[in-house]
Amino acid sequence: MAERIFLSPPWMTGDEERMVAEAFASRYIAPCGPMVDRFEQVFAQTVGQPCAAAVASGTAALTLLFRDLGMKKGDIVFCSDLTFISSIGPAWHMGVEPVFIDCDRETWTMDPGLLEEALRDAARANRLPKAVVAVDLYGQCCDYDRLEAVCARYAVPLVIDAAEALGARYKERPSGTAGYAAIFSFNGNKIITTSGGGMVVSADAGVVSRARKRSQQSREPVVWYEHEEVGFNYRMSNLLAAVGLGQLRHLPEILERKRKIFDTYREMIPSGSGVSFMPCAAYGEPSRWLTVALLPEADAREAGRPSERVLSAIRTLDAANIESRPLWKPMHLQPVFSGCRCYGGGVGEELFAAGICLPSGAALCREDIERVSASLV
Ligand SMILES: *Cc1c(COP(=O)(O)O)cnc(C)c1O
Repeated sequence: MAERIFLSPPWMTGDEERMVAEAFASRYIAPCGPMVDRFEQVFAQTVGQPCAAAVASGTAALTLLFRDLGMKKGDIVFCSDLTFISSIGPAWHMGVEPVFIDCDRETWTMDPGLLEEALRDAARANRLPKAVVAVDLYGQCCDYDRLEAVCARYAVPLVIDAAEALGARYKERPSGTAGYAAIFSFNGNKIITTSGGGMVVSADAGVVSRARKRSQQSREPVVWYEHEEVGFNYRMSNLLAAVGLGQLRHLPEILERKRKIFDTYREMIPSGSGVSFMPCAAYGEPSRWLTVALLPEADAREAGRPSERVLSAIRTLDAANIESRPLWKPMHLQPVFSGCRCYGGGVGEELFAAGICLPSGAALCREDIERVSASLV
């Protein structure tokens, strides 16, 4: 049996181990230390923001931002419908009512027209959301300019969930440089990994320093333990920051490989097969975190499930020892959010029914992609 091809395994270069050894040698085996500071600095430079706060996960990063925005029971938050549950999960835990906004067909990210409609309705009802959470899906930036303009009109803060989009570009700016703040994830399957971790970035240094403080139990800067509010234990550990520093050095190569993988799939899977790929928005360059394809649907769609064609492709790939997955299931179709409102929803449903995520790990070679393509069509 050929070796298993995973969806998006971490790609280690050797620098990570060297940096961890350096962290050990420095004896900072703690959730603070020089590696965390260095990782934050280099990361902020990479994404073109003045500062960044390293935390335990992307989910933790969102929790800190939502807390900063003062979310509480009874508030409303608008969120991309086609996403991973983490985009809204932390707000849900604060008792917030989510309203989901569908994506558009051209970018698969939040439809600015639908957002505008939802905000107009909310303003009329005098119940504006506490925030809009827009997701850079599969590494494609949402339309920052348009989303920012709509949010500004209603004075609602925009949070960018760029967990999947490190290294992507929107016009002339890097991903995550929009709105009130953005978050990134360093989970094991993301563009770079710290085995688990996340980052808060913002053009507003106050947002970042408050996130950092809250990630360390909101301790006041005095000798004794003084707290004016209750925080979290969400700081990234010094050892994991060392892994992140090692990874970040290789970001350009990782991105180049991810983009090459996408191009190679496109080249190997004939368009005559009916298979198409995630579109690339004219305004930017995606990170290509995962290569996502749409399989033509032969069967009638059953709501809330991937098409039979997708399920059978996943089974066929699995039999060839290849890991693949459906797209994120839209939030409005999730049983836990069954009572929640959604603007649109049909586009995300269609993409979910027809979409498949193909192996996209940075180490993937041409032969691997050939193997996947051969099993797919
Ligand atoms: C991975 C991911 C997150 C959460 O990141 P974690 O580090 O796993 O907590 C949030 N949003 C999106 C869109 C993601 O893909």
